[in-house]
Amino acid sequence: MVAAQEREGEYKVMARYIDAVCRLCRRGGEKLFLKGTRCNTPKCAISKRAFAPGQHGQARQKLSNYGLQLKEKQKAKWMYGVLERQFRRYFETASKTKGVTGKVLLQLLERRLDNVVFRMGVGISRAQSRQVVRHNFVYVNSKRVNIPSYSVKQGDIIQIKAKEKAQKKINDNLELSSERSVPSWLEFNRQELKAKVVRLPEKEDIQQPIQEQLIVELYSK
Ligand code: SF4
Repeated sequence: MVAAQEREGEYKVMARYIDAVCRLCRRGGEKLFLKGTRCNTPKCAISKRAFAPGQHGQARQKLSNYGLQLKEKQKAKWMYGVLERQFRRYFETASKTKGVTGKVLLQLLERRLDNVVFRMGVGISRAQSRQVVRHNFVYVNSKRVNIPSYSVKQGDIIQIKAKEKAQKKINDNLELSSERSVPSWLEFNRQELKAKVVRLPEKEDIQQPIQEQLIVELYSK
C-alpha cells in the first residue's frame, strides 16, 4: 500500500523506491525534479555528479533502442511516482482511448490528483503533494478525495482545506514554488487555494521532456 513519508534528502515510500531519489535522476541522466527546491540549487546531485551511480557509472555506454525506450519509461514512472503495474495500466487505458496513445498516456499521468496539487505549488514535490492528498486536505467538487491517482476531468474544481498547522506549511510551499508557474490548463486562485481544470493538459504543458513515442514503442513489442 502507499503509506508514504517524506523527509529532507529522502523519499521513503513503502512498496516503492526507498533509496535516495537523486540516484534516479543520475540513472535517468537528467533532472527529474523529485526533491523540490533542492533541485534548483548547486546541491543537486546531477549538477555535482552528472553520471550514473555505481561502480561503472562513469563508463561510456551506448544505449540500444530497447535501452532508450526503457530509460524513457523509467523516467516517466519516477517522475510521477508510479509503479510498474500502475504505469502499464495507464498505457493500456491510453491504447484503448481514442487519440494518439503517447499523448493520452501523458495526459493520464498529468491528470493525477497528486500531480495537480504539485502543479498548484501546494507541494514542493510530487511525493509531498501525494502526502497532502493522503492527509485529507484535498476536495474535488466539494467532496474530499484522498486518492493520489484520482484522475481530474475538465471542469473539476480542486480545493485545499488544511488545519492551521498544515496551512502554514502549505503557505511556505506556495512561496517556495512561486517561481514555478501554474500551467494554463489550471485556473488557480491562490487566495482560495482553488484550481479549476479549464481544459485537459497537452504535451506542451509538461515541462519535463518525455519522449512518449519511445514508451509506446516499448510496450507495443
Ligand atoms: Fe536530486 Fe537534482 Fe534530481 Fe532534484 S533534480 S532529485 S536534487 S538529482
